[in-house]
Amino acid sequence: MGKCALERVRIEIRGIVQGVGFRPFLYRLAAEHGLQGTIENSASGVELDLEGPREALERFISQLPERAPSLALIESLKADWGGEPSGRRGLTILRSRTADFRDTLISPDIGICPDCLRELRDPRDRRYRYPFINCTNCGPRFTIIRDIPYDRARTSMAAFPMCPDCEREYGDILDRRYHAQPDCCPVCGPRLFFLGGEGREQPGEPLELARALLKSGGILALKGLGGVHLACTLDRAAKLRRRKQRDEKPFALMCRDVEAARALCHISPEEEALLESSRKPIVLLKKRRPGLEEVSENGRIGVMLPYTPLHVLLFGEDLDALIMTSANLSDRPIVYRNDEALRELRGIAGGYLLHDRDIQTRCDDSLLWVLEGKEYPARRSRGYVPFPVKITGGRGSVLACGAEQKASFCLSKGDYAFPSQHIGDLKNLETLEHYEQQIRHFERLFDTRPELLACDLHPDYLSAAYAQERSRREGLPLVKVQHHHAHLAACMADNGLEGPVIGLIWDGVGLGSDATAWGGECLVGDYGGFERFGSLRPIPLIGGDRAVKETDRLAYALLRDSGCEPGGGEAAPAYEAMLRAGLNCPLSSGMGRLFDGVSAILGIKTRCSYEGQGAVLLEAAAGETEERFPYELEGSPLRFDWRPMVRALAAEKTAGVPAPLLAAKFMNTLLDMALEMSLAASRETGLKDVVLSGGSFQNMYIMERLLPALRGAGLRPWRHSRVSANDEGLSLGQLMIAQRQWKG
Ligand code: ZN
Ligand code: ZN
Ligand code: FE
Repeated sequence: MGKCALERVRIEIRGIVQGVGFRPFLYRLAAEHGLQGTIENSASGVELDLEGPREALERFISQLPERAPSLALIESLKADWGGEPSGRRGLTILRSRTADFRDTLISPDIGICPDCLRELRDPRDRRYRYPFINCTNCGPRFTIIRDIPYDRARTSMAAFPMCPDCEREYGDILDRRYHAQPDCCPVCGPRLFFLGGEGREQPGEPLELARALLKSGGILALKGLGGVHLACTLDRAAKLRRRKQRDEKPFALMCRDVEAARALCHISPEEEALLESSRKPIVLLKKRRPGLEEVSENGRIGVMLPYTPLHVLLFGEDLDALIMTSANLSDRPIVYRNDEALRELRGIAGGYLLHDRDIQTRCDDSLLWVLEGKEYPARRSRGYVPFPVKITGGRGSVLACGAEQKASFCLSKGDYAFPSQHIGDLKNLETLEHYEQQIRHFERLFDTRPELLACDLHPDYLSAAYAQERSRREGLPLVKVQHHHAHLAACMADNGLEGPVIGLIWDGVGLGSDATAWGGECLVGDYGGFERFGSLRPIPLIGGDRAVKETDRLAYALLRDSGCEPGGGEAAPAYEAMLRAGLNCPLSSGMGRLFDGVSAILGIKTRCSYEGQGAVLLEAAAGETEERFPYELEGSPLRFDWRPMVRALAAEKTAGVPAPLLAAKFMNTLLDMALEMSLAASRETGLKDVVLSGGSFQNMYIMERLLPALRGAGLRPWRHSRVSANDEGLSLGQLMIAQRQWKG
């Protein structure tokens, strides 16, 4: 070995490689290959200056990307060969020359890694069956951090001084637990306990008590990473729904492993990879067969795998699947403190499996689909937050305040935008407090104060009220951003586009620039501005917001407007009078309302317990057909006239055509319309890029067909992959528009 010639290589790695345990990883990998030299942070990433035998250097470079810590994002790796080897010995991590803020990048929480899983199951390991085992590559992060810089004293782990064994691992650069702040063991770390339904700690092994409760059909309150879950076996879904007073929204499941999940759902290789990834999100999988209606009434079930050692131990060898739902009551944020759990969940939980490691920050489970083999987020939260999105044209610090019902905010610092976790509906007071508290927390974590604010045009959004108030109090400039323009910009930023682009923006509702309700839009624009190229014929909402849930009102309005017999039963005279007088019947061009209205006409869902339920069930009901209905597209801006479609649909329904076929035919018609509208916009502007955003695009029937259709017509469709298409993704778009439009 000593005989072969030494070579020298300088390697420059760009991307998000700081603050994610990347340098210790490089050190260990270089040591493993017997290399000498230095490793150093630079302004744009990491630089290495290494020497050793050519073969060892090449192996090092080729193994680097695949073995890198899962949170590192390598954008480029440049190797510069040929320097004169100095023959120096030793491997050193050099101190950073510049104190860069990216040193303080904060990691999301990471699911248990294979090494820790092995130790957890190894009777000879000192952490055998220890529910809080973790290492540099896994464990809690974001949810236990109180303040920066990130070290143990500023986390929930401050309460647990390390024992000498843990201390030794912590200080050893060759150890997997080198500088792992939450490192602990049964000697020095947190402790698990079980309390009965009345809130008293029970003698006995906590895990066995919890497992016994589950097996006897009880509901267990279980402390996770970002909050408390309620867990029970699948056959207890109805009982849980009753006790939790939960509407018909689906529950998520946790399955012991992929095989247990496969017994219930179809799983593609990409879905399997996402389930098993270190982020461990909930993946929305197709049911293998109809059933489990009490868990999820639609065609999919959200499934995740155990992501903490505690989950792994709870499942053991004999539990296959558990309902695992956030412990919160009616739109309140997820319960996350022990005392809160005991108070709020009394009468719901039959027992509590808790521990003494405090959760500092609430963080719900993330929720995604796999679309064309890639992530398509519905809710971006645990495992993803607070990882940044790299943006272009970043300047200073901007705070964008998001929407209201699916609230989020986004804080930027230079070239990085940090979208918040899922916050929830701000109309709930505790959720609003959580929102304001998280904004303060992000400003502290990323050590910045916004110089510019952005919010929605809608004056009644509580997020806009927060922005106004803060703008007044701190004298900060405020940019108000039109809702659908923000969706367009969010999808552009998600894909790193500069525009201009065509944007199909379909959602429930957002305030338009003309003070009417928009939501079935075709826009043309970029961060600097937009034009409304097309829209859909507005639908009168009989009774205003009541029509969002009482969707038989939408059915009535659609049928009547199309010249069909509108039905409506006993309520018909009242609806008729309101429409005639124009009394509390605001017009909306929301695509979500069209979906809900058609769902009601087809008898799929006429009364919804949550917004968009009619649309979700229509998608689930759709059968197989290539047929479509007639429609008209005319005027300027182009207007989609759905009346010919509604007339044909009503006639076929009367003729006895089954609802699943009509549901598919309806969506096929929208696909045609979307394509025709995009092509018209492309002809007029010469643009080829089409961004798809808004909550109505969280419909896989539409997405799986629209993307190839647009490509087939010579256009370039873009969809979300890092933030949600619904209003949760809005804050990123607001931020991009505000920083581009601000002339400060
Ligand atoms: Zn680990
Ligand atoms: Zn220890
Ligand atoms: Fe929206």
